[in-house]
Amino acid sequence: MFDYNDLNLKIGLEIHQQLSNKKLFCNCSTKFQEKNLDSEFSRKLRAVAGEQGYVDVAAAFEEAKHREFVYHGYKDEYCLVDCDDDPPHEINQDALLTALSVAKLFKMNAPDEIQVMRKIIADGSACSSFQRTMLIGLGTKDSFIETTQGNVRITSLCLEEDACKIEKVHDNRIHYSLSRQGIPLLEIRTEPDIKTPEQAKEAAEQIGLLLRSFSSILRGIGTIRQDVNLSIKNGNRIEIKGFQELRMMPKTIDFEISRQINIIKQGKNVEKEVRKANDNGTTSFLRPLPGAARMYPDTDIKTISVNKELLNEVKIPELITDKIIKLQKKHNLSHELASQIIKENIDFEGYASKFKKIYSGLLATLLINYSKDKKGHLEFVLQNLNSGRITKDVIDSVMMNLRMNKKVNLEQFKSVNYSEIENEIQELIKKKPELSTNAVMGILMGKYRGRVDGKKLIEIINKLSTK
Ligand SMILES: [Zn+2]
Repeated sequence: MFDYNDLNLKIGLEIHQQLSNKKLFCNCSTKFQEKNLDSEFSRKLRAVAGEQGYVDVAAAFEEAKHREFVYHGYKDEYCLVDCDDDPPHEINQDALLTALSVAKLFKMNAPDEIQVMRKIIADGSACSSFQRTMLIGLGTKDSFIETTQGNVRITSLCLEEDACKIEKVHDNRIHYSLSRQGIPLLEIRTEPDIKTPEQAKEAAEQIGLLLRSFSSILRGIGTIRQDVNLSIKNGNRIEIKGFQELRMMPKTIDFEISRQINIIKQGKNVEKEVRKANDNGTTSFLRPLPGAARMYPDTDIKTISVNKELLNEVKIPELITDKIIKLQKKHNLSHELASQIIKENIDFEGYASKFKKIYSGLLATLLINYSKDKKGHLEFVLQNLNSGRITKDVIDSVMMNLRMNKKVNLEQFKSVNYSEIENEIQELIKKKPELSTNAVMGILMGKYRGRVDGKKLIEIINKLSTK
């Protein structure tokens, strides 16, 4: 579509990954269910940007003053710490260890002491109007991931508190849920080494996959978020946030490139800004790009010493990429099937030892295809397949019946003997030679629907009618 090289396209990523168990500085749950509303209160931002007083922050505060923020607290998912009414508890040790392990995996340097910082937030997404963050790792010359289009260096790793999620916006009132506030969040930044939209997607996928090797990461929609920083020749730095699906990333980046090219063609300046990735692959203005310096030390929390004792506990788990290759080799599966099995956390070994007669490629395909179906249904099919009571040709039909809560009569799905069918077709053609292939097919499908392979049937009919 574009000559990215000629455009001097440069892309860097920021990957945000939530961690599980409990929040970073309190004991609240990270389940993020937002089920039982427990409390609701509203606040207006006070203009307290005095300490450092940077202009862009001050401006944002001025703007925010006119808005009212309404916070919703759900049972077990918020406390006084999240409301900034209590000081933070001690840091969540599990989250800290996971962060240090990720830094080790990416061969980063950890500091001797971790200083918790406050990053100013003026949009109300934190009750306290700041977000706690700390640097856990800095990239070294060995900190990079490999993609098919070259290496992408990893710049830094931070551990931070996630912010509140917007529930709705109503005139000047913004409603936030406190459930996400304080969930431990890893932030991985890359250098702007990425040169094409496809490479951006690949790099994001790679980092996401590596992170899934750690047991304490949260899984599911919204638990990993990617921001894209991009620039082109004569353009400006743009940040795109909020990708719903990774597969939309290349399309969205292409949209952003053509938007900037249009602005440049008109002789105008591309503004530095943060834009939102829309579901249809377009982007829209979110806010101006904030200035860099908007952090100051959090005096509520002592610096954390990264001593030998702590480092001894830092362990890198077996990587998902290694698990995939291991499964692939052991069961002679394709890379694609092995990847899906591992990514979806399917207990392939368990099924394989239980249903030894189903060959591994078919078993893997069935486990993936029917992973959303009821476990009992899947077991029923696998058991009957394993014992030879049904053949693979009828699995779809049996599953369909189970889904519709129909009683399944296995007799109806009993495998058929193709040589018997062949005789039957021969008889039919002899008796009624005027019948077309389709007509013969129709008669037989009426009788054997769901029990025979249609393709095979046509083959037999064609073979016999040309004789
Ligand atoms: Zn809490």
